[in-house]
Amino acid sequence: MAKNSSIEWTKHTANLWHGCTKVHEGCDNCYAAALSRRWGNDVWGNDKPRKQIMSVWTELLKFQKEANVAGEMHRVFVGSMMDIFEKPMPLRDHNGKTLDHTTGDLRQQFFDNISNGLYPNLMFLLLIKCPSNINKYIPEAWKETPPTNVMLGPSLVNQSTANNLIAHLQEVKGKKFLSVEPQLDEVSLLPWLHSKSLDWVIQGGESGPRKRQFNTDWARKLMAECHATNTPYFFKQIDKVKEIPEELMAREFYR
Ligand code: SF4
Repeated sequence: MAKNSSIEWTKHTANLWHGCTKVHEGCDNCYAAALSRRWGNDVWGNDKPRKQIMSVWTELLKFQKEANVAGEMHRVFVGSMMDIFEKPMPLRDHNGKTLDHTTGDLRQQFFDNISNGLYPNLMFLLLIKCPSNINKYIPEAWKETPPTNVMLGPSLVNQSTANNLIAHLQEVKGKKFLSVEPQLDEVSLLPWLHSKSLDWVIQGGESGPRKRQFNTDWARKLMAECHATNTPYFFKQIDKVKEIPEELMAREFYR
């Protein structure tokens, strides 16, 4: 986990565990799976135990303390190496020893900490791969009164993943963002932007040696839709190599 994230739209990243399962075509070139393999961790797939990240709890308290001292809210992106809403999975520690609790227990502890007000200066951006699981795993109280410092955001890659994932996202209350990345085809979000169902949109193309083509007209379209509906819009990258045209340098944040 990084102290200061290199991801421009967040200050920090946090992962309770490492490991995930590929869910749609956006996952084909998953950098997190490749990174895990490079680190010697066999944690990807439906039948693979995840690896617990012990340091995350002290890191979160440190982030909270820093934000409090600065008198600011700091964004924490949760889930660059995991899916916070996946079904409970077995866990191993960093030595490979099987643990007697699951990822479901870690999720519960994290949500309890938020509910108990441990992190009042942190805005958590929960990157969601399976929005259909949100209502299954959030605390009962959040269904009526969601915490003000949590944003829920699925990652989608084309119109069919948008239609499918946003439909599930609409079944829950609370602040919501979308990570349209790695975008693989044109997407329109107008119906949901008009109905004010989305608080923030982040968009970007794929990077890396196997990157798939990104069309900058997709960014022009989404930026225009966001601006027409007064929705903050953040354009992250074309492919991390090509320079972003000036008219697409929109770096707006939800506040
Ligand atoms: S959901 Fe994200 S982290 Fe999980 S496999 Fe897909 S791209 Fe990788």
